[in-house]
Amino acid sequence: MKCSTCGKSITCGAKSSDGLICSTCFRKTHWLYGPLKRALKSGKIYGTVHSVSRSGMSRQISLYIVYKGEIFPLNWHFGDIYGKLLKNGNVRINGCGMDMLFAATNSLWRFVLPKTKPYARYIGI
Ligand SMILES: [Zn+2]
Repeated sequence: MKCSTCGKSITCGAKSSDGLICSTCFRKTHWLYGPLKRALKSGKIYGTVHSVSRSGMSRQISLYIVYKGEIFPLNWHFGDIYGKLLKNGNVRINGCGMDMLFAATNSLWRFVLPKTKPYARYIGI
């Protein structure tokens, strides 16, 4: 996969109107960067676990932020960053023995704010 703005090869990216974009281009150009950064830094990011697979090895989840007073779903833009976006609009996360919503938020943080440490102020790093 390639970033549609700078052409750099990427393994995952955010969706924008012209295709996938890398972390750097996202921070420079995407309108969601500001709202998402504010949401992540203030801890106001919301998540739902829709279902757990029968084996218990995967979950279907969604993440949301509140943008301009309305709930804004993040799955379409960022689903492939924290899991795999499914046709039904949910995101599948594989694995077990961890907090899936934490893992998803953590991956999203690493993409949006790669130079900072997630949750540093909560765990005192
Ligand atoms: Zn790029």
